[in-house]
Amino acid sequence: MNKISIQYDESRFSEKERQAIAEALEYAAAAHAGQLRASGEPYLIHPVAVAEIVAGWGLDHEAVMAALLHDVVEDTGTQLKDVEARFGPKVAQLVDGVTKLRLSSGPRPAADSPRLAASNENLRKLLLATAQDVRVIMIKLADRLHNMRTLQYLDSEHRKRIARESLDIYAPLADRLGMGQLKVELEDIGFSFYLPEEFEELSKLVHIRTKQAERYLDKVKRSVAKYLAAAGVTVLKIEGRPKHMYSIYRKLAKVDGDIDKIYDLIAVRVIVPDVAACYQALGVLHQHWRPLIYRIKDYIAVPKTNGYQSLHTTVFAEEGHITEIQIRTPEMHSSAEYGLAAHFYYAQQKAKDPGGARAGTVVPESMQWVNQLRDLQQQTAGGQEFVEGARLELFASRIFVFSPKGDLYDMPEDATPLDFAFMVHTDIGLRALGARVNGKMVPLDSRLENRDVVEIVTRREAAPSRDWLGFVATAQAKGKIRAWFRADSRSANVASGQATIEAELKAWGLKKLEDLPKGSMANALDVLHMKSVDDLLAAVGEGSLSTVAAIRRLIPDAAKPKGTKVVRRREPTGAVVVAGQKLPYQLAPCCRPVYPQPIVGYVTRGKGVTVHAKGCRNLPADRDRYASCRWEVGADSAELVLVDVELVALNRSGMLSDVTGTVARRGLDIHGLVSEHRRDDVQEINIGFGVEVPDLFALARLMHDLEKLPGVTAVRRTG
Ligand code: MN
Repeated sequence: MNKISIQYDESRFSEKERQAIAEALEYAAAAHAGQLRASGEPYLIHPVAVAEIVAGWGLDHEAVMAALLHDVVEDTGTQLKDVEARFGPKVAQLVDGVTKLRLSSGPRPAADSPRLAASNENLRKLLLATAQDVRVIMIKLADRLHNMRTLQYLDSEHRKRIARESLDIYAPLADRLGMGQLKVELEDIGFSFYLPEEFEELSKLVHIRTKQAERYLDKVKRSVAKYLAAAGVTVLKIEGRPKHMYSIYRKLAKVDGDIDKIYDLIAVRVIVPDVAACYQALGVLHQHWRPLIYRIKDYIAVPKTNGYQSLHTTVFAEEGHITEIQIRTPEMHSSAEYGLAAHFYYAQQKAKDPGGARAGTVVPESMQWVNQLRDLQQQTAGGQEFVEGARLELFASRIFVFSPKGDLYDMPEDATPLDFAFMVHTDIGLRALGARVNGKMVPLDSRLENRDVVEIVTRREAAPSRDWLGFVATAQAKGKIRAWFRADSRSANVASGQATIEAELKAWGLKKLEDLPKGSMANALDVLHMKSVDDLLAAVGEGSLSTVAAIRRLIPDAAKPKGTKVVRRREPTGAVVVAGQKLPYQLAPCCRPVYPQPIVGYVTRGKGVTVHAKGCRNLPADRDRYASCRWEVGADSAELVLVDVELVALNRSGMLSDVTGTVARRGLDIHGLVSEHRRDDVQEINIGFGVEVPDLFALARLMHDLEKLPGVTAVRRTG
């Protein structure tokens, strides 16, 4: 049997690296020995072909070795740890990455389902791999390309599935990596196997049209050359070639299948030496041929997100035929054809010491989305939100829209003004109220068109709606809206925590948090191991820290109210001891137990213990949550403090008895109740009284109860 060798540009690699590649080849040959491809050829030709593609793309020797070894773990008895022991962890990681990317075929998509056979799980694997090491995805793409090139050997069901997967996932991915030539090849092979009849039919149509167009095309090329030469613009190359089949097929759907409506079946491509010459050439051609204004695209100033650069224009050329012309430099051209591969290739050419620099691993500036993918992965921990977000970012066509100042924004095709708002600034997104598109007011959920001028009308305060999640098209906007709502539930907790604590502070004669003694908040945070005031407030708001506990920290001698001291011998203090401890509790409003009624506590979620009279009908049946309670009987003496309380309340019947009843239910004694009409308002009365409290918590609870009485508008401590 002839030995299979690998052909690649050896000058790019050091002696040591070439040796390592040769060893990987030998290893793969031994592992795959005896295996055959569907074509009947030795299996080894596949990994070798993949490695050659990868090497041709300019990837480093590790990637080439991993390509040679990419099927040994999956398809032979070899273990990953064997590969690692032999070739080191880096190569093993790449092999592992590619192996794990083996996509499960999943449920077959409905025949008429328009797009994306990829299950979310498959997509997740691919995207995670891209985010981790872009070489993995490039090896996978090379693997796919070789499999597509040899697809005719598979049965038709397999073919169709693989073809569709290539159209739905791999071609868009190649496109996003800027690898135009790879995308075109994957798409056209995919198209021919996935929709063979349509492919056949369209081929005939296009063939006739391009034949007819050839004479015309020659004429255009000659004119371009003549005009540019006359203007002193150097031209390196002019080529005219038909668009690839799959892109024509997709365009046909937009023009109701009328192929004559597709202007750019053939595009003329002009290669000039530099950027200045690109613009010069554009100007010259526009002097001779009138352009369709809305089809002038400056992808040099504003590259596509995959790094693609060129000037595009569509003009009424010879005999008034509509013709697309693309103008670019040789660098732009190779980047458009090979994308990330071209970048790796040049980066490695530039590296002085071949193999010394890991040139084939760093993603260029222009492909920031790969890094964004990594960010997105970290933000979302790679879960469902990640897949959703990445799907949005990767597989949508792009449009460009303008701000009123003329700034350009690159957005997915079904983006809304709200997506635009979030892209401009998070704050503008959150405060968005409506939008003016090309001067006309439109709702936030309308779809933007290419070249729209978008202005966002904002309100003063952020007021996002959960409905927004239903129509925004970008992962960015979705993420920011979600983050707002996550933060919002926190800010609601902070607000309710603050309200609770400030209500309690009234018993101390304080109104606001700011009235607390200096340093007390810092001390409290320290003791509670909390980082910020908001943390403390949120903890109270969500119920993980009781108000009493918070107050005790905030006012260290909290329990000692100032006021007239009353020492009195008492039996019960009116307080309840829950489970043997002084835990926070409340008396059940249904049965309002009083001493010496037998009582039972019920542990509620988030609200502490509710104390019911034994036998109360409202006592829930869940005995697991009962807590034993008893009335606290004071020591020999209880020290009580007389404090003054004042209420402003509606002058309604029963108001006074409600007030005294509330005090009594707390087990407290009332002194010298007075009520008087407020001078300015006969509807309201002032009620004042003294009350004996064991501590300020008792007072705070009482004031809470009083505030809840119907018609009470204010409760304050006056002395
Ligand atoms: Mn393979």
